[in-house]
Amino acid sequence: MVSLSILPVISAQAEIQLSGEIKQGGLVIGKTEANNRVTLNKTVLTVSKQGDYVFAFSRDDKTQYTLTITSPTGKIETQTFTPSTRDYKISRVEGISKKIMNPNKKANVRAGEDRAAIVKVRKISSNLTDFSQGFIAPRSSSITGVYGSQRFYNGVPKNPHFGVDYAGQIGAPVKAPASGTVLLWVPDMFYSGGTLVIDHGHGITSNFLHLSASMVKVGDKVKQGQVIAKVGNSGRVTGPHLDWRMNWHQVRFDPQLAMKVSALK
Ligand SMILES: [Zn+2]
Repeated sequence: MVSLSILPVISAQAEIQLSGEIKQGGLVIGKTEANNRVTLNKTVLTVSKQGDYVFAFSRDDKTQYTLTITSPTGKIETQTFTPSTRDYKISRVEGISKKIMNPNKKANVRAGEDRAAIVKVRKISSNLTDFSQGFIAPRSSSITGVYGSQRFYNGVPKNPHFGVDYAGQIGAPVKAPASGTVLLWVPDMFYSGGTLVIDHGHGITSNFLHLSASMVKVGDKVKQGQVIAKVGNSGRVTGPHLDWRMNWHQVRFDPQLAMKVSALK
């Protein structure tokens, strides 16, 4: 067992090989025999030819899960756990004027189209297993924004921030956190500007926002560490930076926790 950090509950018969944190926003990879069936509660997880599988927890997940591995002969292993809760960075801004910025109708239509395009690519579940090798930071610069943080304006909550923000000037390099295939590149989404999505397999994607350029195109294979894009300030931003987000299908998890996962043998 490699780097299995914190497991609040481990069943006595646990021999299940996992790496990652059982924590809100966490990513967990597992390894088993390729012909075993793996379920997380009622969800059947894809198992690769090498026995790799993956799952993740959303920001506020309080579900109790049972991971069940069933062999072709009917032998069953289970492990039950609940993701540990986190305290997210909350900031409150009072006294904001009531004047609300109303995006025009055209902008709303465009933002809706952008959302639909993103939701569509996140439904893809490829046979790639690049997620199983772990993730590296796309930039070596400082982190200026974290996953899960949330602002309240006059007591009204805004959408939480689901990315990790890295400092960078326009044109600074963005590296692939893991190998994969380019699923989407749109240079001018309404909110997220230049937006690139990389598929790492089994529904795991990396999303890069506010880019000024992409060095790759849809369908390209990329290698971990390869420069794939350039930092920008496109879309709705206050200044240039990289916003890196990760998804397991529609579940948004914390890229900083993804970087704690290490390959299982
Ligand atoms: Zn951000």
